[in-house]
Amino acid sequence: AKSRGRGRFEFFDVALRERMQRRLRMEQDLRDAVHSGQLWPAYQPVVDLRTGEMVGVEALLRWTHPKHGAISPAEFIPLAEESELINVLGKYVLRDTTRELAALRTGRGLDLSLKVNLSVRQLDDPHLVPAVRDALATTGLPPGSLTLEVTESALMRDTSAAAEVLSALRSLGVLLAIDDFGTGYSSLAQLRRLTLDTLKIDRSFITGIAESRDAAAIVTSIIAMAHAVDLTVVAEGVETAEELALLRELGCDQAQGYHLGRPLAAAELFQ
Ligand code: C2E
Ligand code: CA
Ligand code: CA
Ligand code: CA
Repeated sequence: AKSRGRGRFEFFDVALRERMQRRLRMEQDLRDAVHSGQLWPAYQPVVDLRTGEMVGVEALLRWTHPKHGAISPAEFIPLAEESELINVLGKYVLRDTTRELAALRTGRGLDLSLKVNLSVRQLDDPHLVPAVRDALATTGLPPGSLTLEVTESALMRDTSAAAEVLSALRSLGVLLAIDDFGTGYSSLAQLRRLTLDTLKIDRSFITGIAESRDAAAIVTSIIAMAHAVDLTVVAEGVETAEELALLRELGCDQAQGYHLGRPLAAAELFQ
């Protein structure tokens, strides 16, 4: 029994070592990727439900690895968040997407609002606010055209440093969104205190609203609550015409999802 135990230990040891090595390799690859053009922003349309028009785009980072192909942000963003790398990546996304959207404004007359995701760790980065200010100043993108999305769980950490950063960002004139709403535990009071502009209902609440009265009732109450504190409501993950019709009926302001448009490279989306 003893030797079997030791064998098992060694097995776990090897597996763990391999996992760590893979991780380290990927982290190194990710560092290189930032500087070698393997990272690029995809853009997903955000549609106004009253007019049916595209009013904005959400930037969603993509990694085309030279050996492993497409790697999902669900995999590499958490890895980047374990180190300072997320701040490097975040700054790249800000620069690249504001530049691209500013060019669409001046070159094509497209007045779209740009949504950029911020990781919780970026809120602790003293260089974040200057980086946002620089990106706007350099590209000439109007601050009101930029919305920074922060997840509900990141916003609810309730550290005074994060609150300060959020208010500094607001002073720049950029808008703030609470992302993945419904997956955390924020109260109406907290929502009010944070002075946000937009609330994004998490996809898990949208899936199935056309089939389930209970699911629809939950979304109805989220919309009512958000409107009560003057937030624009965006539904994420709209995959069917039925979901879209129902959301419009419920008074949801905007929506995104595969039914309205998948995330695409700028060249494809705006061709
Ligand atoms: P998120 O901000 O909640 O973005 C929405 C995710 O849902 C995206 O996944 C999008 O491609 C996907 N999606 C959109 N419509 C549909 C739909 O109809 N059905 C389904 N099943 N999925 C849909 P993606 O692109 O894989 O990104 C995953 C997450 O990675 C994002 O979730 C965000 O948290 C993070 N992320 C992506 N880009 C960045 C970035 O530049 N910075 C940071 N900090 N995080 C990012
Ligand atoms: Ca988002
Ligand atoms: Ca989301
Ligand atoms: Ca999410």
